[in-house]
Amino acid sequence: MDDFVRRDGRLFAEDVPVETIAQAVGTPAYVYSKRTLLGHFRRLRDAFAAVSPKIRYAVKANGNLALLRLLADEGAGFDVVSRGEIHRVLKAGGLANSIDFAGVGKKRDEIEYALEVGIDMFNVESEAELELIEQVARDTNQVARVALRVNPDVDPKTHKYISTGQKESKFGLDIDRAQRMAGWLQGRDAVRLTGLHAHIGSQITQVQPYVDAVTKLLALAKRVRELHPTLTSVNIGGGFGIHYRENEAQDLTAFSDALVPMLQESGFEVHMEPGRVLVGNAGLLVTKVIFEKRSGDKRFVICDAAMNDLIRPSLYGAFHRVEPVGNPPGDSSLADIVGPVCESGDFLAKDRELPPLAPGDLLAVRSAGAYAFVMASNYNARPRPVEVLVDGDRFGIVRARETEEELMRGESAQAQWCDA
Ligand SMILES: *Cc1c(COP(=O)(O)O)cnc(C)c1O
Repeated sequence: MDDFVRRDGRLFAEDVPVETIAQAVGTPAYVYSKRTLLGHFRRLRDAFAAVSPKIRYAVKANGNLALLRLLADEGAGFDVVSRGEIHRVLKAGGLANSIDFAGVGKKRDEIEYALEVGIDMFNVESEAELELIEQVARDTNQVARVALRVNPDVDPKTHKYISTGQKESKFGLDIDRAQRMAGWLQGRDAVRLTGLHAHIGSQITQVQPYVDAVTKLLALAKRVRELHPTLTSVNIGGGFGIHYRENEAQDLTAFSDALVPMLQESGFEVHMEPGRVLVGNAGLLVTKVIFEKRSGDKRFVICDAAMNDLIRPSLYGAFHRVEPVGNPPGDSSLADIVGPVCESGDFLAKDRELPPLAPGDLLAVRSAGAYAFVMASNYNARPRPVEVLVDGDRFGIVRARETEEELMRGESAQAQWCDA
């Protein structure tokens, strides 16, 4: 569900015609709705209100500073996976002590930086990482708060590239290992075990795998609390799925109805790290038709957005709804919507019913708020799209379109030789 609606056949972002935005900023353009973003944040908070969760937005889903600022103002914390994301959150006005730092490969300089700015906690994924965090904290006379990320070995029933909580996944610690590490942590002053964490994957639409994972997490947390009275929180991860095919809101109460009683009974403070469910439906990718062409019986609509701008269809076979921004006349027929990049895998959508389109017509690719701009690249020397935020009847650029000159920053045609 979102605030991109049709009025008299034309697509609006809140109260602004999408065509007006495209005329002002050009295409391709990412357009975000403030109302949709905050609406989703509040719906999630309300669904879990009985356990007053600390909601830490997963910055990797969309790290635009303006969106981070809106969420920080709303009271969100942040889940980050790199030094760069910490920097970004602080720049947007997020509080260091609302940050948790996840990821399997944290480097020493990232750990040092995180401790220096005073993040809330590290979500630890291996023994080697825990030892490094302990060492850095000891060397700098600090105490690092840590949560152990458990791999509950549950199948989240989603795409294999975004499943993270099964045995064969690189993420998290199996339950026995986590318990041994809790033992190792006893009596180590530089690291304090404050939480346990699990995140089993993304785009989860079924409640049961989530319940299974939280059941295992809570059982372990109760055992570990015997050793570590400082263990006060459980982090249930992110992963709530959204609807890509219909314009419908994800039923968050299906998750909260099942999870809240268990969490309440446990007495732990609840943390969660949603990404997609907050931003996914809050964005559109607006693109312009360059040409139509036919190859045999097949119809191709070639537009100015490509796999480098939105890679989800190519990478995951993801489905995004595509619709004309205006109301072009004529009978619809099936078409593949493709970009100008020189790869057969360059498509935004396949076999969609679209009316005849002329060069210059605009298309909107829906649900492009999450894992969209953040995964954009400069392949084929294509500048990444402009990003625009809409608030009621006004809109503003929140990231300028890159220029071709900027793409060559730091590059030289002549090497700066060093003698070896
Ligand atoms: C990616 C990720 C999230 C966010 O996932 P969504 O599906 O976008 O909600 C949360 N926590 C961790 C550890 C992640 O890797």
